[in-house]
Amino acid sequence: MSIFMQEQNDIACRVTKGNRFADGKDSFLVGALQGKFEENVIVTSVDALFNWARLSSVWPMTFGLACCAIEMMHAGACRFDLDRFGAGVFRGSPRQCDLMIVAGTVTYKMAKRIKLLYDQMPEPKWVIAMGSCAIGGGPYYEYGYHVVKGVDLYIPVDIYVPGCPPRPETLMAGLIELQQKIRQDRILRKKSAETAA
Ligand code: SF4
Repeated sequence: MSIFMQEQNDIACRVTKGNRFADGKDSFLVGALQGKFEENVIVTSVDALFNWARLSSVWPMTFGLACCAIEMMHAGACRFDLDRFGAGVFRGSPRQCDLMIVAGTVTYKMAKRIKLLYDQMPEPKWVIAMGSCAIGGGPYYEYGYHVVKGVDLYIPVDIYVPGCPPRPETLMAGLIELQQKIRQDRILRKKSAETAA
């Protein structure tokens, strides 16, 4: 019998004696992990765990309306790299997204489509209004009869990113704000009547 086989046989005999080896040592599995770590303990809540997972993997929709969208694309590209925040996976279907970045001028014609896309996104979902057009009509506020005076008239907005256009850093700051908001979410706690309304 080779030395290797002898060793395997030895281990098998010892394991069959229960969770502990005959010589008092813990089982093979526990033994493999034993003594490998510093003393520590992880204590967290379910909310914190879920929120951490959600804020670390925000998936935006591939979707742009006007000039602000160029800055959004820039934010996703290599120089600024939204992937550092876990938000670089722009998806082609609203059903795979949890973040809508409304980047650009929202016309009345487009607003209905934006609402439809928003409705197709699964919960939980968030919206960033990027640029002064999406926030309140921007340069078209006064004479743009065709421009919606804020996308929040159609869908709920979580974070407003001002500018015409906002630079990629500003969008990143908005994303970090959104992550802070997600961090404070209470998933399992019953909502009060006011919050639920
Ligand atoms: S806010 Fe300015 S840059 Fe952005 S879509 Fe409107 S006009 Fe273009």
